[in-house]
Amino acid sequence: MARRHRIAVIPGDGIGKETTPEGLRVLEAAGRRFGFELELTHYDWSCELYQKTGRMMPEDGLDQLRGADSIFLGAVGWPGVPDHVSLWGLLIPMRRDFDQYISLRPCRLMPGVRSPLADRRPEDIDFVVVRENTEGEYSSSGGRMFRGTPREFVSQESVFTRHGCDRVMKYAFELAMKRPRRKLTSATKSNGITFTMPFWDERFAEMAKAYPGVATDQFHIDILCAHFVQHPDWFDVVVGSNLFGDILSDLGPAVAGSIGIAPSANINPERAHPSMFEPVHGSAPDIAGKGVANPIAQIWSGALMLEHLGEAEAAGAITTAIESLLAEGGPRTRDLGGNAGTVEVGQALAEAVARG
Ligand code: ATP
Ligand code: MG
Repeated sequence: MARRHRIAVIPGDGIGKETTPEGLRVLEAAGRRFGFELELTHYDWSCELYQKTGRMMPEDGLDQLRGADSIFLGAVGWPGVPDHVSLWGLLIPMRRDFDQYISLRPCRLMPGVRSPLADRRPEDIDFVVVRENTEGEYSSSGGRMFRGTPREFVSQESVFTRHGCDRVMKYAFELAMKRPRRKLTSATKSNGITFTMPFWDERFAEMAKAYPGVATDQFHIDILCAHFVQHPDWFDVVVGSNLFGDILSDLGPAVAGSIGIAPSANINPERAHPSMFEPVHGSAPDIAGKGVANPIAQIWSGALMLEHLGEAEAAGAITTAIESLLAEGGPRTRDLGGNAGTVEVGQALAEAVARG
């Protein structure tokens, strides 16, 4: 019997509605070739739904998703709906409730794509940012006093737990072990943030003892950002707290070229809950509905999903197809200097995956 994977599909807003079908087209082609089936359930949760009903998703939304093996998301957000509504109405509840404590962003300069960094070749930019996704600087603990007076006072606490640090670091070390360079960099700021960051460094050093095969180093976040731009070839796997990881995981895809190709994953490694896979880009209202969005970020996110579901061979076939299409001058969308449409690129990749 064919392996079956239950996928919750949330196209969301804007170009998410155009890129998600192309992602599914390629995933289904991979399924036919590698012998698995996708059981898809579609959800119309979006800002459009919010504008009609006052909710981004139904009250029992998370329960509806709970039985899925993974969630495949397009993009969420639309002008006129404040970001905190779309974030807190859909994305954050998923991340929190499903304990997706790893945010993963592979950053690769693909052949045939121009990096904003001059003279960079594909072998120079191939690293992964691992961001802690549940605690750290983004806590709800803090307060504001004496509003509007000269004594006004605001504070916000960071929360770092041993459990939280250890589990993200363990994931990062395990990932580094699987990659040829076996190198892990930690983002810190222990020269300025004197409680949480020294603790982060301590946990990193402690965890490193269990992985003698992984070379480690660490940089303060400020100089690390500079190195991402000046020496992207130094990096293999990079682990950071919620805030530092957030910064690096936007900078990383930026140095690797077009936002239209960058994938991401929100993972619960224990598979106790569904993980979520989505492109780095947003709903791109400026080009939505025109059929010109680049579907590669969505399709590559689908490859990350397959890897998580244990379909590593199929995942590899998808990334290889993307590389070949870009290297060999296949159809490309406007953001990459071509004039192909979203569907044309999706079809070309689905055919390439089917052919092998
Ligand atoms: P977010 O919703 O995450 O805040 P944003 O509004 O900052 O994102 P995007 O929606 O990602 O930004 O769009 C930023 C720019 O990149 C826009 O000009 C958009 O057209 C372009 N862009 C984003 N994704 C794609 C894509 N898949 N293909 C082509 N262009 C894209
Ligand atoms: Mg936006």
